[in-house]
Amino acid sequence: MTSPASPEAPTTPKCLFCRIVAREIPATIVWEDEHALAFKDLNPQAPVHCLVIPKRHLVGIHHAGKDDVDLLGRVFHGAREAAELLGVSGTGYRLVVNQGEHAGQSVFHLHMHLLGGRPLAWPPG
Ligand code: AMP
Ligand code: ZN
Repeated sequence: MTSPASPEAPTTPKCLFCRIVAREIPATIVWEDEHALAFKDLNPQAPVHCLVIPKRHLVGIHHAGKDDVDLLGRVFHGAREAAELLGVSGTGYRLVVNQGEHAGQSVFHLHMHLLGGRPLAWPPG
């Protein structure tokens, strides 16, 4: 495991989401800028469900260090831009980051879920 402070490779070739960034795997891209990418989740849990990722590989939020705060801000910004483009900015939406085993993280490239298009229950399971 990489410690938060250590440098990461820009992309990790075998990582699923790095392969989406590299356009090696198809995805429905909703929004992108130089540093972040938003694309539709393959198994949507709400009428609007997309994932916002940093283009640079980071395993998860707990692997982000102080040097990554700008990048994390860009991911948040991507989420608000995607929400606008997907038409849920007025009705509201939820942003979720699953970190590690108990949260059920299944893809180990940091991603923020953007969920909306219906009322969302609270607390989550
Ligand atoms: P998590 O459980 O938080 O790690 O979320 C991983 C998410 O990635 C799940 O919601 C999956 O449906 C989604 N996912 C997995 N593979 C793909 C893919 N190739 N394209 C889009 N979404 C994917
Ligand atoms: Zn990756």
